[in-house]
Amino acid sequence: MRAVALTARSNTGLLEEQARAFRPRWIVVTDQEAARQHDWSGLPAEVELLVGPDAIPRMVADPEVGIVVSAIVGSAGLQGTWAALEAGKTVALANKESLVMGGPLITRLARQHHAHILPIDSEHSAVFQALQAGRREELKRVILTASGGPFRTYTSEQLSGVTVEEALAHPTWDMGPKITIDSATLMNKALEIIEARWLFDLEPDQIGVVIHPQSIVHSLVEFVDGSVIAQLSPPDMKLPIQYALTWPQRRPGVAEKLDWSRAWRLELEPPDWERFGALRLGLEAARAGGTAGAVLNAANETAVAAFLAGGIGFAGIVPACRSVLENHHFDPNPTLKQVLELDHWARQEATRWVGA
Ligand code: MG
Repeated sequence: MRAVALTARSNTGLLEEQARAFRPRWIVVTDQEAARQHDWSGLPAEVELLVGPDAIPRMVADPEVGIVVSAIVGSAGLQGTWAALEAGKTVALANKESLVMGGPLITRLARQHHAHILPIDSEHSAVFQALQAGRREELKRVILTASGGPFRTYTSEQLSGVTVEEALAHPTWDMGPKITIDSATLMNKALEIIEARWLFDLEPDQIGVVIHPQSIVHSLVEFVDGSVIAQLSPPDMKLPIQYALTWPQRRPGVAEKLDWSRAWRLELEPPDWERFGALRLGLEAARAGGTAGAVLNAANETAVAAFLAGGIGFAGIVPACRSVLENHHFDPNPTLKQVLELDHWARQEATRWVGA
């Protein structure tokens, strides 16, 4: 396996370090100002620097590329995912927003171009792995696990007093600030419900959520005979990433392994849909389909940014999302252009709502 190309938005220092280590043919910096300011004299001569977001679709479509790891966070990841599927590439998808925003469009595009979408999101990787224990028509439901976030046991009143610092101190996974807040509100799970609906072509009512604080069981699949198949491993993204890269094979790898020499407990409990209103929003958006996912995602990105900037309280994030979702012009069958326009509209509407 060889890295043909690597991309970054503005972290040029790390990108150059990776370029020296892996010697890809291209590196892409999408932020033109960041690319200008960086001194590239240390870049190996065989690595070509491309600048600007338009370089991504060009690069992913190259014949030399076999697998595209789509890991750009947020709605910005949609363009690259789209271009890769259009070029018939296998897409290892870490960017859940592609499916949340444009689920039916993305899966149709993949079918048209005989492109595979392999999940990297740990829950969806678990479902994907567990599904291989039975036939599709034998599937009853999938159950996504959620760590419950750091405020799992908080009352609604305690939740309204949560500060940015508290919300960023997530106990299980080491992630960026946006997804850490999404894990605390459970909006991450809400988006994953929508992601699972499109990725596995499920009816919304076939998707359940269970709170599992240890984050060892990464999700479960129930078959019609009542048998439940789960995928377990330590909370370490290396495994789902590797599985997407080596599928349909399994290889020895560097992911952390479960330690069977010690005792451990696994707790599973139903979520509180009242305290964590984001979950309900996710299920509603999954049921509605159409433009609902794109609008929920955009409203949430704006509301989380406002929370991180001190503009709204923790408990304001979900009501902001609900208001924007309920006020949008719903379309059950949007084009990509409409999805992108609504993404833009939802950000403006959410900005207005949070009073920024
Ligand atoms: Mg996940």
